[in-house]
Amino acid sequence: MARRKKIYEGKAKDLFEGPEPGTIVQYFKDNASAGNGEKKAVIEGKGVLNNRLSEFFMLGLQQIGIPTHFIKRLNMREQLVRQVEIIPLEVIVRNYAAGTMAKRLGMEEGTALPRPIVEFSYKNDDLGDPLVPEEYIIAFGWASQQDMDDIVSLALRVNDFLAGTMYGVGIKLVDFKIEIGRLWDNDFQRLVVADEISPDSCRLWDIETGQKLDKDVFRRDLGSLSDAYTEVAKRLGVLPSNVTHTPHKPTLIN
Ligand code: 5GP
Repeated sequence: MARRKKIYEGKAKDLFEGPEPGTIVQYFKDNASAGNGEKKAVIEGKGVLNNRLSEFFMLGLQQIGIPTHFIKRLNMREQLVRQVEIIPLEVIVRNYAAGTMAKRLGMEEGTALPRPIVEFSYKNDDLGDPLVPEEYIIAFGWASQQDMDDIVSLALRVNDFLAGTMYGVGIKLVDFKIEIGRLWDNDFQRLVVADEISPDSCRLWDIETGQKLDKDVFRRDLGSLSDAYTEVAKRLGVLPSNVTHTPHKPTLIN
């Protein structure tokens, strides 16, 4: 790792300069955080699982023609991706009410929505990633109307793919968050799915039992996060053979 220049340190991932111009190496850490960084822990093996799971989802999207930043996985914790200009939005798709939507509207978690709903938060930790209407996004120049139409259509296609894939292994896709990047080919701009797709950024419930298999296990102290992610990886057939699986509790690193 020391060979590479770190260009960004995130909560769950660090980014390093890639081997060629226009590439970046994403390094998946074991750090978990919730409540905008108020709750923190190290969950051994989480980075390895998320690296594998994100690779699995990004490759699946590419196979059905949805563009992503993903190039290839390099090793247990690193993947090579194309350098993109991240649009400062969290694009959230919801199939069932949960989390902030359930709280904001007083809905019972798990209520089926009449159709998938796409919403946007402004990516800003200091402000707690506030929900923003499309009107703000366009007025403030974060994205154009055309970009927003493309982003909604991309998000709904990702939803169809992820919901179908998860349904096939007995898991309900309640909601998820993606980030979108701009990729420039000379003057031509393409929007691609960037960042990561993993149980850190989705709500995944077992269809039979309703058991949570995502980061809510950590956010709400519901048990072992690594057990939950391992279960998702196992069902999808992407469990790396040498993930260290520990019965120990997460280490708090306040
Ligand atoms: P909510 O708005 O209900 O908290 O989150 C909706 C969905 O987006 C959930 O699947 C949640 O995991 C994901 N999400 C929202 N904000 C973030 C974030 O800052 N980081 C990650 N990794 N996922 C997020």
